[in-house]
Amino acid sequence: MPRTHKQLIIAICAMIILSSVFLFLPATSMQVPEPPYYQKYYSKPATDQLIRAELGHSTWTFLHTLAAKYPANPTAEQKAEMKSFVEMFGRLYPCEECGQHFREMLGKEPPKVESGVEFQKWLCGLHNKVNLRLGKAEFDCERLNERWDCGCKV
Ligand SMILES: Cc1cc2nc3c(=O)[nH]c(=O)nc-3n(C[C@H](O)[C@H](O)[C@H](O)COP(=O)(O)OP(=O)(O)OC[C@H]3O[C@@H](n4cnc5c(N)ncnc54)[C@H](O)[C@@H]3O)c2cc1C
Repeated sequence: MPRTHKQLIIAICAMIILSSVFLFLPATSMQVPEPPYYQKYYSKPATDQLIRAELGHSTWTFLHTLAAKYPANPTAEQKAEMKSFVEMFGRLYPCEECGQHFREMLGKEPPKVESGVEFQKWLCGLHNKVNLRLGKAEFDCERLNERWDCGCKV
């Protein structure tokens, strides 16, 4: 076979192999499994129990104080903002297992934001579900005002 024919055949073979690699590459990369949820925001999951408890305690303080401050008769804008805050909170809370559980609870019981009392009770109920999961005592939601206030009394 003349030399130029041989070179031509080699070149055609190389083109076929290369084009098949580029054709199949996207298909194989689509099969890569989704990374764990926490990797969307953080490089490592939160596993330290002490930090988890400290973070949790401070966060509940923040959430119940926020709820105590939520208006008795919120405007449409305030309701929408609180709803989106709760949803975003569930997505960003920096303890992944806690956040996942929180999001599952939200799926079953979306935030009740029609009034201050309603929102406070909803949050209390949610906190009680976490308490139950962790083997902690249930809190009496009728006594919320004795434990939490808005910190805005004169
Ligand atoms: C959204 C969220 C999800 C969490 N999920 C997990 C989890 O999956 N796994 C895990 O190990 N930890 C989780 N935690 C942390 C956990 O809930 C506790 O914060 C942590 O164990 C420390 O508990 P604590 O005894 O200090 O009381 P906390 O539960 O932190 O409560 C703080 C204070 O709130 C009061 N309180 C208790 N219950 C209620 C209630 N129902 N309503 C109003 N006030 C109340 C009490 O006075 C208590 O001292 C989560 C925290 C948050 C904020």
